[in-house]
Amino acid sequence: MSAAYRFTPYELPPETVALRAEVRTFVQEEAKHWDGWQIGHSWTGFDRELSRKLGERGWIGMTWPKQYGGHERSAMERYVVLEELLAAGAPVGAHWVADRQSGPLILRLGSEAQKTKYLPAICRGEAAFCIGLSEPDAGSDLASLRSKAERVDGGWLLNGRKVWTTYAQDCDVMIGLFRTGFSEEHGKHRGLSQFLIDLKTPGIEINPIKDLTGESHFNEIVFDNVMLAEDALMGVENGGWAQANAELAFERSGPDRYLSSFPLLPMALAKLGESVNDPSIARDIGAMVAELTVLRQMSLSIQNQLENGETPLQEAAITKLLGTGLEQRMPGLIADIVEAQPLRRAGDTLSEALAYLIQVEPSFSLRGGTNEIMKMIIARGMGL
Ligand SMILES: Cc1cc2nc3c(=O)[nH]c(=O)nc-3n(C[C@H](O)[C@H](O)[C@H](O)COP(=O)(O)OP(=O)(O)OC[C@H]3O[C@@H](n4cnc5c(N)ncnc54)[C@H](O)[C@@H]3O)c2cc1C
Repeated sequence: MSAAYRFTPYELPPETVALRAEVRTFVQEEAKHWDGWQIGHSWTGFDRELSRKLGERGWIGMTWPKQYGGHERSAMERYVVLEELLAAGAPVGAHWVADRQSGPLILRLGSEAQKTKYLPAICRGEAAFCIGLSEPDAGSDLASLRSKAERVDGGWLLNGRKVWTTYAQDCDVMIGLFRTGFSEEHGKHRGLSQFLIDLKTPGIEINPIKDLTGESHFNEIVFDNVMLAEDALMGVENGGWAQANAELAFERSGPDRYLSSFPLLPMALAKLGESVNDPSIARDIGAMVAELTVLRQMSLSIQNQLENGETPLQEAAITKLLGTGLEQRMPGLIADIVEAQPLRRAGDTLSEALAYLIQVEPSFSLRGGTNEIMKMIIARGMGL
């Protein structure tokens, strides 16, 4: 059996230091307006104004060609910006999906018209994208999805239902996966295609779904004879399965997969002050920092491999599995260490952030693919 995993150590280049300081100053200023509840949301907080400001500073679409509004900076410079935003719990959800996966997908597979239409708007922080994969009977077993797109005169006719679509109610565009082929020849995996869908198109109904916190940031979306133009097809007809999987690789390897609960740590350290020298507290915090350091190294190594044109799918799966494990445990660990109550009490930033994170952490290992699915990918990578 060949070595299944490659995590070659990688250090960020020294030229990223000044950029980190620049982003940190910007974020510290913005953070004055965020309460603990908002900070708990981190990359799932939706704030178009913040996305516009980040766009103005050139911190969205950082690695994309200037021709499409990008900034031709390195993946590692982008990584530093993401780290700083996540470490502070910045509400970056209005551009996160577009910057992380929809934009790269359009850049790789989109037509010239699609690139020109969407990429500059994403870079300005003005185009919010959502992911239309899951359906009521198709989550982990995505290839069994039933929503369909039929070729008709002048374009495509969409019918069906998507579910758990984060921020569909606030977004502009969905990249949705639909069934376009039904024959034996196409098969379950091969008869799927992706579409760029303007969410204002007639026939689309967006129904909010409430989560445990009482908020409804995900939705059910009903497509009832939704007519799309010919050029809404994204990439290759019936090639959507491979496309969607490549998109998920972008989704599973970033620092968002281990930093969702991170803002609690500096808050806890500030609260502990001198008592951080207590040996049992120091041990617990040390263990958390050690775990974070390893995950950061794993994540950086994957970024470096992606930058070199490799596809570290197994490495991304193991990083997501371990990373979401830590971010799920962190709220409970922090609550124990600082003896804080997870209550939404105005002005008590740590308790507010804990109140949010303790309620939503069970979802961290579901979004982007469940633990069981990650384990299956890892096992396959080991040749099992
Ligand atoms: C916060 C959040 C945000 C989300 N946002 C989006 C979004 O924006 N767009 C979108 O399309 N989806 C989104 N999802 C949906 C998410 O991708 C799915 O919930 C996930 O893929 C699991 O699918 P499911 O819910 O249908 O569960 P199921 O697939 O029914 O799984 C139920 C359980 O069975 C296990 N299981 C399933 N198949 C296997 C198998 N073969 N082997 C072993 N165990 C298995 C699963 O791991 C899980 O524990 C979001 C989910 C969450 C929690």
